[in-house]
Amino acid sequence: MTNQLGVHALVFSGGTTPSEMEYIIGETKKAGFDLLELSLHDAANLDVPAARAALDAAGLGIVCSRGLAFAADVSSDDPAVVAKGAELLHYSLGVTHQLGGTHFTGALYSALGKYGHALTTAGRANVVATLKDLAVEAEALDMTLGLEICNRYETNVINTAADALRLADDIGHDNVLIHLDSYHMNIEEDDFVRPVHLVGDRLGYVHIGENHRGYLGSGHLDFTSFFHALADISYTGPITFESFSSAVVSPTLSNDLAIWRNLWNDGPALAAHSKNYLTTMIEGTRAH
Ligand code: MN
Repeated sequence: MTNQLGVHALVFSGGTTPSEMEYIIGETKKAGFDLLELSLHDAANLDVPAARAALDAAGLGIVCSRGLAFAADVSSDDPAVVAKGAELLHYSLGVTHQLGGTHFTGALYSALGKYGHALTTAGRANVVATLKDLAVEAEALDMTLGLEICNRYETNVINTAADALRLADDIGHDNVLIHLDSYHMNIEEDDFVRPVHLVGDRLGYVHIGENHRGYLGSGHLDFTSFFHALADISYTGPITFESFSSAVVSPTLSNDLAIWRNLWNDGPALAAHSKNYLTTMIEGTRAH
């Protein structure tokens, strides 16, 4: 198997205090994953050197992700709000690097939340200018940026693979890659095959989540088609399981993602199931 398999930290814990990180890293390893995805929404409570040491000791890779906020939003028309968003991005890229990560992804281009209007021309230009700068900074650190395509209720900047490719073209740096998420694709795309073929070798990261973000296999998403499409393009990058339940809450991210429902209670049991599910899917759908 060539894809590294990851799990989102919110399967285990909503915060990133030292004791929470110890638990998250231990459970990620126990479930057999190769890497941990950590949202930087709680970076203020993160002991970065300690987390890096614990990741290294466990032999785990790290990917960091985040969305911005309406008060710190690089898609805004207001230069002061854009500047705050840019500051958050540069800070977060630095944290990712200090943790030993080479991939920083997510809604790096807007707040995570429902916009009351379409993206403006000025706002889009601000996204492009900010991410050009961030891409240059990332290149110097040998890092890549991911543009996670999110649904219309979480952003107005990129909702489809075609939108994301146009944005990446305008940013114009090879280290800006596309991040597909099955949960968002289910809402916005025609199917699970065409977007994968469209993105092709510019795909850098994948989130696997069910239509309701619960147990894989308990919803209606056509993962067989999605994994076949990933095999079609010989995708060898990371594949990370993402799931959220009201049982594990982040005071900020859970609200941004509208996590109101209890879909599971036992994070470690969920993680073990998803590791098996992903392994089975990849093995079953690759070329034999
Ligand atoms: Mn996602």
